[in-house]
Amino acid sequence: MPKLTVVVSQGQSADPAKRALEEAIVAALLFERDVEAVVIPHLYDLKPDGTGILCLQGIRGDVVVLSWLYPRAAHWILDRNGIKGRFGQTLIEPPPDDDDEDEEKEEKPDVGIGARDVPGRAITCLDLRWHKAADPYVQEITRLASEASVQTVSIGLAAPSVNGHTSQQQPVIPHSGFVIPNSEPPTPHAALQDSPPSAAASNGAPPVQRIEEDSARRWYPVIDFTRCTNCMECLDFCLFGVYGVDRFETILVQQPDNCRKGCPACSRVCPENAIIFPQHKTPGIAGAPERSAALKIDLSKLFGAPDALQLAVQERDVELVAVGRGAVGATVGMPKRQAGKDHGPKDELDHLLDKLDEMHL
Ligand code: SF4
Ligand code: SF4
Repeated sequence: MPKLTVVVSQGQSADPAKRALEEAIVAALLFERDVEAVVIPHLYDLKPDGTGILCLQGIRGDVVVLSWLYPRAAHWILDRNGIKGRFGQTLIEPPPDDDDEDEEKEEKPDVGIGARDVPGRAITCLDLRWHKAADPYVQEITRLASEASVQTVSIGLAAPSVNGHTSQQQPVIPHSGFVIPNSEPPTPHAALQDSPPSAAASNGAPPVQRIEEDSARRWYPVIDFTRCTNCMECLDFCLFGVYGVDRFETILVQQPDNCRKGCPACSRVCPENAIIFPQHKTPGIAGAPERSAALKIDLSKLFGAPDALQLAVQERDVELVAVGRGAVGATVGMPKRQAGKDHGPKDELDHLLDKLDEMHL
């Protein structure tokens, strides 16, 4: 019985070097009896109700996810789709980031509200950009498999989640390595394809499963809830209806595909650098672990030198005009609660602003 599921998320392009690394890792895993491998199209592009996400929701036990994404981005994409777990620790050292040396970093503790209904199993996300060779990844997977508990149920398609919360389908068992489902998962869909039998299969290793899905490239924000304080600045700022709140009044990306392709405006408005656009070229926006001071809002500069907020306003206006709406500049949805202040409990001014918001003045 496999102890660990390894998910390989393919690159968006058919770059031969990327594909070769992915396949070298998969080939090496064919000799690992404790590891079950699944190959999926690019994680970020998977449709919420598509075969790929349904398959991932059906995985029980510890998971390693290899993708061409920052681990923060991959983790919170999974969480939003109901594939939950604690952050797995890895011993792989990312290489030093030369391109990013000059970028000013901000030291700030994470004060977010956290994710809801997180089971005890570990999800360890590894960035395929860290190393060009398969060996470091395979060695780390072998180490993680040696520490993992045996899965109770093998991979299958899970019932769809509701608003990203899977608590009704997956009772949470804290501090155990796995989640026991209420019912057996349905029979795997025809789109789940096993690799052809190989020499390794006779070795007792499970076959590789390959998920086929027609997935166009997508563009939408991903919220990191270790940082998000639920301040709702993004909800106020976005004029495209991307954000909403769940039944617990917690911010969520409700209509991801309403987001304007290439626009990262609200990530500059978020006071916690909690909004990730995984495909953006700026590491601080794409999910790099360090907080970028360049993204910090300084309201005093709003009408002076360009800063993050001014850039965000310009980016939003470009997208409004592109869909035939008028530019609004800095007249709508400006950050008001968090900018320029330290974190802490809401003060009287915060409560006053909240009341004014509720009155829709
Ligand atoms: S602006 Fe940032 S911290 Fe505030 S609710 Fe949105 S994601 Fe969370
Ligand atoms: S990038 Fe623009 S359109 Fe997309 S969620 Fe943010 S503000 Fe809305």
